Amino acid sequence: MPPHESGEGAGGGVTARPCGICALIERCRAGDFADFVAELPHSFVILGDAQFYRGYCVVLARRHVNEIHLMPADEARALFDETVAVGRAVAFATRPLKLNYECLGNLEPHVHWHVFPRVETDAMRAAPIWMRPEAERKVALEDSDRRALIQTLGSELRRQISSASVAVL
Ligand SMILES: [Zn+2]
Repeated sequence: MPPHESGEGAGGGVTARPCGICALIERCRAGDFADFVAELPHSFVILGDAQFYRGYCVVLARRHVNEIHLMPADEARALFDETVAVGRAVAFATRPLKLNYECLGNLEPHVHWHVFPRVETDAMRAAPIWMRPEAERKVALEDSDRRALIQTLGSELRRQISSASVAVL
């Protein structure tokens, strides 16, 4: 049972606390999250909060599972295929030098993939993105740019996955 449903107290070995990603998915479903990009069969796609890497997206597994290896293999593969589709969309929208894909979950153990575009002009381009100080990487885009980017990403995802439901701006 995932921590957000366990209700186990002290000594249970599992900390019961709400899952931030499940909460985010609920906001996407309710139309209450400005950085929502698309709903795919196995995931929700949002713009991440580190737009120093313009076009950075996060692919949130539709279902709360703590580890990829705890997912049925078909579900894990389908989520990976959707992550690759997001990678294509980010590449199309931003023409990066390189994409970085990461599945970490140290802060929120609900399976999610980070998709970061890396650019030639980044002096730290050889380093993992997390090496850049948080205050530098966690910047927001100008609103019209953010909307245009979400629209481009959404239409590229619709082209690849016909059942994708994308943000209406
Ligand atoms: Zn969750």
